[in-house]
Amino acid sequence: MSIKVGIPRALLYYYYHPQWVTFFRRLGVETVVSRETTRGLLDKGLKSTVDEACLPVKLAVGHVLDLRDRVDYIFLPRIVSTARKEYICPKFLGFPDMVRHTINNLPPIIDCNFNLYHKGSSPADFYFQVGKFFTRNPAKIIMAYNASKAALEKHNLDMQSECLPVRQEHAADGVGNCNGINIAVIGHPYVIYDNYISMNMVKRLRDSGARVLTADHLPESVVREEAFRLPKKMFWTINQRMVGAAYHYFGREDVHGLIHVASFGCGTDSFTGELIERCARCGSHKPMLSLTVDEHTGEAGMVTRLEAFMDMVRWRRNLADAAATL
Ligand code: SF4
Repeated sequence: MSIKVGIPRALLYYYYHPQWVTFFRRLGVETVVSRETTRGLLDKGLKSTVDEACLPVKLAVGHVLDLRDRVDYIFLPRIVSTARKEYICPKFLGFPDMVRHTINNLPPIIDCNFNLYHKGSSPADFYFQVGKFFTRNPAKIIMAYNASKAALEKHNLDMQSECLPVRQEHAADGVGNCNGINIAVIGHPYVIYDNYISMNMVKRLRDSGARVLTADHLPESVVREEAFRLPKKMFWTINQRMVGAAYHYFGREDVHGLIHVASFGCGTDSFTGELIERCARCGSHKPMLSLTVDEHTGEAGMVTRLEAFMDMVRWRRNLADAAATL
């Protein structure tokens, strides 16, 4: 029977899952991904987490609990930095410790450091540490790492052609019944791509005839270049990405509106939202909707706001079309 490693369907799983799954598979290790988010899974996370934690962290704890009794290891990388001279939120850094101290009877946790902050650091260092849990053969680890890197590069290219993460599980969504309305949805990947937490926002927008664009549909270079318009470099990688993408979409003629999705309890979202709103007020004039999701967010309220927003976008567009024919 092969060794099973559990991967919570949460946090940076939405960026790195093709790489993680490929890496373990190449080492001969089976991966088990936690189930899709449900109310029950979220409730388990809420009961085991401190109130001050943000919603995505509470949810991630629920996903760990979902794996606890089904796997031999749980993969919780201690992600410090994913780019030079930048950081990921400190909650990622402390997540393995939080889990260890709040959940009993866990299988061993793989919590190697992923830290690209310093010059000369490489993701290979991290994968080498992880690989040593399962083999003493360095060549096998290097080959698994190279294959996993290629899988991630392919995934990133797929994303830029407007796929969604875990695309095989979302294949039925397609790219949407586009009526020429393009809506940018800006938020943490682990919020906007989690169907339960986002209340199927992407699908709802697509069903209403919109083409949905996210930060992940843009090349890294574009997002960074836009974010460099800020007077000071933002050193939180994901939020820098969100601001850069928002600036880019605000400047595009073919994008008709933007939705910013914040998570309750997220400190960095508060100033990211402010930066995006200032851009909407001063430089863009495109319709913008700000939504904050938490464990109490009601679906009816969300649906009403999305519908009203789409009505506004269509109305503005009709006005613009009418003005163009005068
Ligand atoms: S960036 Fe915000 S939402 Fe993400 S883990 Fe940190 S506090 Fe939570």
